[in-house]
Amino acid sequence: MSDVQILESVQQFMARQHGHFIHAEHVSAESAERIELVNPATEQVVASIVSGSLGDVEKAVNSAYDAFQHAWANTSPYERGLKLNKLADLVEEHAEELAQLETLTTGKLINISRHLEAAQTAVFLRYFAGWATKINGQTMQPSIPSMNGEKYTACTMRQPVGVVAGIVPWNFALMIGAWKIGSALTTGCTIVLKPSEFAALSLLRLAELAIEAGIPAGVINVVTGKGDTGQHLINSLLVKKVSFTGSVPTGIAIGKQAMVSDLTRVSLELGGKNAAAILEDANLDEILPALLQATFVHQGQVCAAPERFFVHQSKYDELINKAAGAIQHLKIGSPMDESSMFGPLSNKPHFEKVKHYLNLAQQNNQVITGGKVLNGTGYFVEPTLLKVSGVDDPLFIEETFGPVVDVIPFESDEELLEMMNHSRFGLTASIWTNDLSKALRLIPQIEAGSVWVNMHTFLDPSVPFGGVKASGLGREFSDAFIDDYTELKSVMIRY
Ligand code: NDP
Repeated sequence: MSDVQILESVQQFMARQHGHFIHAEHVSAESAERIELVNPATEQVVASIVSGSLGDVEKAVNSAYDAFQHAWANTSPYERGLKLNKLADLVEEHAEELAQLETLTTGKLINISRHLEAAQTAVFLRYFAGWATKINGQTMQPSIPSMNGEKYTACTMRQPVGVVAGIVPWNFALMIGAWKIGSALTTGCTIVLKPSEFAALSLLRLAELAIEAGIPAGVINVVTGKGDTGQHLINSLLVKKVSFTGSVPTGIAIGKQAMVSDLTRVSLELGGKNAAAILEDANLDEILPALLQATFVHQGQVCAAPERFFVHQSKYDELINKAAGAIQHLKIGSPMDESSMFGPLSNKPHFEKVKHYLNLAQQNNQVITGGKVLNGTGYFVEPTLLKVSGVDDPLFIEETFGPVVDVIPFESDEELLEMMNHSRFGLTASIWTNDLSKALRLIPQIEAGSVWVNMHTFLDPSVPFGGVKASGLGREFSDAFIDDYTELKSVMIRY
């Protein structure tokens, strides 16, 4: 097989001299500093974006504030839902274009860009569109008895917080950007997005499609740049909420900064060192395809994906043999080739980080299978299974955010739980078993925001998602996001 043809619209979009997208216009940056976007499969520069200064950020935030005050907050919930649905229609119409932009800048396999970025972006936007007409307060009966026969009634109303800053990582830029857009717009907020410096093109394009969908100018703005651009955004006193997805250290810094800025509310979706527990009764032939797919999708650069397999001692050798056999057959190749099953890591700094962990494993003889960096062009490494020396091993503790998985035997449930929970992270976990009774006893004891049974890395918009411990603060999706994007106003009336 060979690479799919790059669409002409994609070639034209990548060739543009991109600026920011502010108030429905392409705005060139104050500074001339440009950031090159590199295709991680070819190491060629394919496009460039600009670095957003304080002045650029102020323009974008002012635009979002103006749109909030004069357009979006007064748009009826019905209309907001319609427009988000229209945006979802346009995402579907332009799915191939958006998918190719993602693949050419992040190395995501083209089929994953089609089915997990573009298609899921439309699914999530439609889910949030449905909420627009369903966000309500409550009425309540005041509880204190009246002194002189007067009566009271009370209600709450939910009001949009205002301008949201959405700071997005590079691994699923379009879809994670769309989660933030959907949450903000359905509640009546407006948004300024700051995509990752490595993956900004698809969100710049999505912002254009939003104008075509009839979403007013200023409701969605995109300012590109690095960490300092994000910092300017958080410092703005017009920003009333920061929605951040990214690493733990950046998340902690952002959380502090948001508090200092103006007690700005903040939600943090951070990293994980997620565990998959394969119990004694698991049928490995049945579970391995799903487990390995969830683990190695997008080369393991998925916050929710497992990086630690805990395997019952009786199944350890069988799992190692079968899993190693399966991953050795993954066809590593160009992400634009539909027959490739495993692509490159998304960018050079991340490639260097994963290489560091692979070197460490090689030095200490910990590699079960894989472990090598591929010679030649592109940021390719092998999907890898490792042994660890114990719970203090950095490979057990640190998030690699790559296709690097520890395989650890356990004997008892107590030992399993102790090792699973021996982590500062707590994003996701899974249990692989047909013993539902045992799974139900384990679930409450697992320190993670999401626990799946016989599945992993499965995000559904109607199920809340977020981390415990250092994996985050707050929840996305379901009705759980509503608190974060609205102020709850209490009203009491005496009569
Ligand atoms: P980073 O934390 O490095 O960056 C995330 C975003 O924050 C980027 O847009 C980045 O810009 C920006 N940024 C960096 N420094 C600052 C700063 N000081 N102030 C404001 N913004 C800043 O994460 P990655 O992009 O490397 O993403 C990988 C991480 O994200 C992994 O740890 C992964 O687990 C986590 N993640 C969590 C998810 C979840 O839902 N829980 C989902 C996806 C990823 P720039 O890129 O230009 O540096």
